[in-house]
Amino acid sequence: MTLTGTMLIGQHSLCGNREAIRAINPTTGEPLEPAYAGGGAEHVEQACALAWAAFDSYRETSLEARATFLETIATQIEALGDELIERAVAETGLPRPRIQGERGRTCGQLRTFARTVRAGEWLDVRVDSAQPERQPLPRGDLRQRHIALGPVAVFGASNFPLAFSVAGGDTASALAAGCPVIVKAHGAHPGTSELVGRAVALAVKACGLPDGVFSLLYDSGYALGVALVSDPRIKAVGFTGSRRGGIALTQAAQARPEPIPVYAEMSSINPVYLFPAALEARAEALAQGFMTSLTQGAGQFCTNPGLVIAIQGRGLDRFISAAREQLPHCAAQTMLTPGIFSAYAAGISALSEHAHLAAKGLAADGPNQGQAHLFVTQASAFLGNEQLQAEVFGAASLIVQCADADEVRQVSEHLEGQLTATLHLDADDVASARALLPVLERQAGRLLVNGWPTGVEVCDAMVHGGPYPATSDSRSTSVGTAAIQRFLRPVCYQDFPDALLPEALQHGNPLLLRRLLDGQREA
Ligand code: NAP
Repeated sequence: MTLTGTMLIGQHSLCGNREAIRAINPTTGEPLEPAYAGGGAEHVEQACALAWAAFDSYRETSLEARATFLETIATQIEALGDELIERAVAETGLPRPRIQGERGRTCGQLRTFARTVRAGEWLDVRVDSAQPERQPLPRGDLRQRHIALGPVAVFGASNFPLAFSVAGGDTASALAAGCPVIVKAHGAHPGTSELVGRAVALAVKACGLPDGVFSLLYDSGYALGVALVSDPRIKAVGFTGSRRGGIALTQAAQARPEPIPVYAEMSSINPVYLFPAALEARAEALAQGFMTSLTQGAGQFCTNPGLVIAIQGRGLDRFISAAREQLPHCAAQTMLTPGIFSAYAAGISALSEHAHLAAKGLAADGPNQGQAHLFVTQASAFLGNEQLQAEVFGAASLIVQCADADEVRQVSEHLEGQLTATLHLDADDVASARALLPVLERQAGRLLVNGWPTGVEVCDAMVHGGPYPATSDSRSTSVGTAAIQRFLRPVCYQDFPDALLPEALQHGNPLLLRRLLDGQREA
């Protein structure tokens, strides 16, 4: 497929008329062709009008038709073959196996949502049958299902050019819910976005769906994104990126005459707690596991372990010296964009001012390469300096040494909301871990024992979310099948004749759903 540098408004390719963006190959620093001219208010208008026109018919597609659509997108993405892999590698500097794996995850995610759609549990059908004889007042027939919120604006992530971008988790879950999607492409990977966008548009066509189910827009600044979020036909927003970007879009959404939900996944430093018995038993192995998690993907994961908390002593000293030995062998890695690289450099420089450098990785030998860094500080210093808990996006981490369990708790209570909290423990640590658990439950969306936070499974039980600033709405997850719930709302139908009820709510239960019928879950 020849890249055209055009936007997609439904099935129409349109060239923008604003300043153009070009991807930069971060490995060489060279710009990549073609240029992508940005869109403006008129393109937002066209895409939103089309999405709104598609909404009522798309949200009422059968479960089978919608599931087939999601599977067709996956098939179309796979059909892009090597061209997609090569372009994504060139635009992100990520290694080929990582991009191949991410394509698998993206297509697997779409197929998982297809299974979810078919099962229909997300409709959450509840029926309270009429009680005409009830005293003192009769009760009507009440039936509830969930419907799609409306067209959704998606802002993809730079660090997952496939799995959290054009056809990534936000798009897949919104389409699964029955919402048309308008993607604002990330400026770091416009070619990858175009390829995937065309695959989605082909699937829309192949499945005979209305044009407005999917559009893809480009912009060289923030104006188009803000216009999209402000458009009255957009009813929700999915975002993954910086805290600054997430806050700006949340504020734009709240400033509308009709405010709408923004599901922004923003920043997290993912504390790792090393308990004394675990440290005593395997400090060196823990250091090895930590290094691998810290440096994977140049540390450019929202679940990167940016903070280690432990009680000082022989075990922690062994952990630090093992890390000191290992980190200098870790190669510097190309970061996603020159902007992300310079933000990383600024973050390292800020940490260097306030904490002690324990070790660093091999120096860079090419452009935009991030060198891993490990810092150490005392709990008292950490508690007195807010800057020490700012996310440094990249392979940087800070070890906080605590005097005792009370100080560990104080540090924990001081932390902002997180995506994850990790506990490394042995049997003798369970009592201390149990005492800390209420704090961690308040703070994070996912709690793990004896593992590492990087690597987020796409499954039914996953929570990739957490209190602010990890996300803008702690009641949701952006990974896993529960992500569909962000784009749904309940509607109750009272005393409807069967002929007027949506299929999911009809008396004969033609979709064979497991309804909550008069307080009992059907088998
Ligand atoms: P970003 O700057 O927040 O950009 C994400 C998307 O939002 C892009 O499409 C961007 O547009 C748009 N955007 C950003 N600010 C906006 C605003 N004020 N108004 C409207 N649209 C806006 O994130 P990034 O480029 O991926 O990376 C920058 C930093 O974000 C990193 O250094 C890191 O700190 C953080 N980050 C965090 C995560 C995470 O998972 N928590 C993931 C990636 C990045 P443009 O494309 O036009 O810039």
